[in-house]
Amino acid sequence: MILVVGGAGYVGSHLVRELIEKEEVIVLDNLSTGFKSLVDLRATFVEGNLGDRKVLDKVFTTYPIKAVMHFAANSLVGESVVDPYKYYENNVAATLTLLKAMLDYNVKNFIFSSTAATYGIPHVDLIDETQPNAPINPYGQSKLMVEYILADLADAYGLNYVVLRYFNVAGAHASAEIGESHDPETHLIPIILQHLLGERDKISVFGTDYDTPDGTCIRDYIHATDLANAHILALEALLSESKRTVTYNLGNGNGFSVKEVIDTCEKVTGRKANIEYADRRAGDPAKLVASSEKIQEELGWEPKFKLEEIISSAWKWHSKGK
Ligand code: UDP
Repeated sequence: MILVVGGAGYVGSHLVRELIEKEEVIVLDNLSTGFKSLVDLRATFVEGNLGDRKVLDKVFTTYPIKAVMHFAANSLVGESVVDPYKYYENNVAATLTLLKAMLDYNVKNFIFSSTAATYGIPHVDLIDETQPNAPINPYGQSKLMVEYILADLADAYGLNYVVLRYFNVAGAHASAEIGESHDPETHLIPIILQHLLGERDKISVFGTDYDTPDGTCIRDYIHATDLANAHILALEALLSESKRTVTYNLGNGNGFSVKEVIDTCEKVTGRKANIEYADRRAGDPAKLVASSEKIQEELGWEPKFKLEEIISSAWKWHSKGK
């Protein structure tokens, strides 16, 4: 059995959809930002906090868990600057409680959702895993702290882990039964699509004076299902080898500016956006594009969805109503 912490969230629920075809799945989620409706009905659902040792004792004594995948975190850069305590408490302290329980119950395989925010402001066009860690906000710091903790636990207690550093996750499951849903929504693609559905009167483009060809920020968008499949390959590697401690980037390797994303959304939907050019948003680097060659070479992962397909899958989910 595999314990998926945060399996009711956007990324976690996409992972569960794929994993449930291969393994029995227990989802632990406190539903603070996730939704029970996103959890596949074939999974066992436990409502609770990952930082609650009593809940963890119950889970680890009830189910024979061979690996833990950890998706439960607060993940908004802006919020992390305003309320850093929340990020260190939920993303670091609670994760420590989970890791302690794993070690106590001799569960040694761990897959951790990390972020491109660990790189801070990059100095290269394509970011690979050898780039220095230099987060510029508490969110990125909180994820990097856990990465450092994992390395020490691996050395001292033989924990095996894979860290996956996500770039910009987007898109919805092919069934359109699950997709991206945050309240409030802050992410670019859902905001554009909500606007094109008439749920917002305009889109604000944050910054037009970046050092990029059209002046807007460039990001690397990756489909949630491609991301889910990378987790499954990582799990298979962990379960088949005696020891692995590794970090992989997950992105498509192609950057798109905010303007290009808006253009693609207009093309996919056949609707015209009302755009407002606004100031830069704090904490946004000009360009973040991944090199994911390492996971492609070592685990044979290959992203399948291009930007247009990512957006059309998201459009299917958004336009069907929730
Ligand atoms: N962005 C924007 N308007 C919005 C939301 C986002 O211009 O309403 C920009 C944001 O500044 C960034 C890019 O879109 O350059 C992607 O932002 P998002 O919040 O989707 O992801 P992040 O890069 O923060 O993980």
